[in-house]
Amino acid sequence: MSSRLAVLSSHLIHVSAAMASEKEAALAATPSDFTIFDKIINKEIPSTVVYEDDKVFAFRDIQPQAPVHIVIIPIVKDGLSGLSKAEERHIDILGRLLYTAKLIAKQEGLDDGFRIVINDGPKGCQSVYHIHVHLLGGRQMNWPPG
Ligand code: AMP
Repeated sequence: MSSRLAVLSSHLIHVSAAMASEKEAALAATPSDFTIFDKIINKEIPSTVVYEDDKVFAFRDIQPQAPVHIVIIPIVKDGLSGLSKAEERHIDILGRLLYTAKLIAKQEGLDDGFRIVINDGPKGCQSVYHIHVHLLGGRQMNWPPG
């Protein structure tokens, strides 16, 4: 398969995954080194960017689950496809993601609280295998989560 065709088919897979339920998308996802988030970082796929520095990139989720729903990712994932793959060398990335979540929560005016979610693996409903933090806010959250 040509590389352009591979990029297009990978994009179509993600578009169809976005239309499926979260659980279906998670079950359909296969871990790979290169994901749709690399295309978002490279701006090959448009996104609504809310924060960007030399280490972290954050954009509004295409299927928001709350009035504010932002996905926060490391620009270089260093093999960290999901939290269950974390090794000690990833501590800086993980800390940076959470600290950036706090900065963005402030930027978004989420002064009364917010929720951080990290989905991991099929049973955790992870659909994109590039470590990321969901920042959700702007409404009352419920507990327990679904
Ligand atoms: P997860 O299911 O935890 O792996 O989270 C992946 C998230 O990425 C989902 O909430 C998707 O809605 C979101 N997502 C997938 N593609 C895009 C996109 N092109 N732009 C913005 N968000 C996306």
